[in-house]
Amino acid sequence: LGRHNGQVDAVGFEYRGIRFGQDTLNVFPGLCAVDNRENVEATFKAIGAAGVKTARMGAYKPRTSPYDFQGHGKDCLPYVFELAGKYGIEVVAMEITREQHLDEIREALRQVGHPTGVMLQIGTRNAQNFELLKVVGQQKEFPVLFKRGMGITLEEALNACEYVASEGNSSIVFCLRGVKSHLGAPHRNMIDFAHVPVIKRLTRMPVCVDPSHSAGRRTITPDGMTEIHHATAEGVIIGANMVLVDFHPDPAHALCDGPQALTLEELPAFLDDVRLVRQTY
Ligand code: PEP
Repeated sequence: LGRHNGQVDAVGFEYRGIRFGQDTLNVFPGLCAVDNRENVEATFKAIGAAGVKTARMGAYKPRTSPYDFQGHGKDCLPYVFELAGKYGIEVVAMEITREQHLDEIREALRQVGHPTGVMLQIGTRNAQNFELLKVVGQQKEFPVLFKRGMGITLEEALNACEYVASEGNSSIVFCLRGVKSHLGAPHRNMIDFAHVPVIKRLTRMPVCVDPSHSAGRRTITPDGMTEIHHATAEGVIIGANMVLVDFHPDPAHALCDGPQALTLEELPAFLDDVRLVRQTY
């Protein structure tokens, strides 16, 4: 990653015609968790109509409570990939929690003829699952989106990325998604986006922010914007290269993290805001 052994010469990487660098900005809107085919289709349709070719979609959901919805897993993959292709989505960011999920993704892509690509997401809970990090590092077919562990230092998180890179895959995006705090954070997590330029200075990785899992709710602030919009602007102003953000056709009925999802009607204005903030700062 440019810190220890200089394995990587260029900043960032290209995947399915999309550049991920320290000077680009890609927005990945989408469902936190796939709930049904209709919602996947409505979401990809809205994203494609907005001219965006990247999206997030959760099939495997590691949840804090075992009684919460755990995701549809491999059963939803064929229609997720088929519909991504139908609406021109080139890259779907999707979390995996074990090696078997990688095989299931490969198999589903093969079944539907590879209409889209996948960015393998390592979630905050697996940020120091070194065996899983090695597994995604040992393949080069898919880039990796590494989410910082919610309670680990930046140095520990960067070392986790080295686990991926040292196995051979340096196509990694580092994602900040807020950290746990005992200081009474007003949000779901303490927003740590001030680390964006620090990571860019220390490594060659593009840096992503996840305003949804950081702020954790779409509460409207006095200026009429949601806390998700504010967190996004914060991340973009400080130089984020990617925004991972939850949208849902009907947040009140989402099976996972509904309170932090924006509606599909809000997507075009959200994207305009991101572009405006980027041009302005
Ligand atoms: C997610 O992005 O779907 C997710 C569960 O995020 P995190 O691992 O950051 O909690």
